[in-house]
Amino acid sequence: MLQVLAPLELRLTKHRRSLLSVLENTSRPLTVDELVVSADVPMSTAYRNLAGLVDAGIVVRVAGAGSADRYELAERLSQRHHHHLVCTGCGLVTDFDASSQLEKLIDVEIEALLATSGFEITHHVFDVRGLCSDCVTG
Ligand SMILES: [Zn+2]
Ligand SMILES: [Zn+2]
Repeated sequence: MLQVLAPLELRLTKHRRSLLSVLENTSRPLTVDELVVSADVPMSTAYRNLAGLVDAGIVVRVAGAGSADRYELAERLSQRHHHHLVCTGCGLVTDFDASSQLEKLIDVEIEALLATSGFEITHHVFDVRGLCSDCVTG
């Protein structure tokens, strides 16, 4: 992680380091409230640092279903392409990996669909919405 940040000249303060290490080790996007607890940083510091990390392209804001923003490491840093399950009941967002067949199918189909549009594709984002197991049984 340090090597990744060096070229970006982003000063790695204790709080930034702490936020990034939590984001590196999570299997789903986290809300600011969750980050404050896990990274043990003050709320105002968390907001300020997250804004800086988002601006620098290191962290991305993930669209959920509720009002709370959620954050995760940018895929080019985590090196882990994945998709999101979004619960429309409680707003929980969890990661899931699509099969390599599905990934290939998405890319091939999208490319064919847009072949004549002049649109240059960089990557895809694919969310699945529904209810998490807690919301289904609750
Ligand atoms: Zn839920
Ligand atoms: Zn994908």
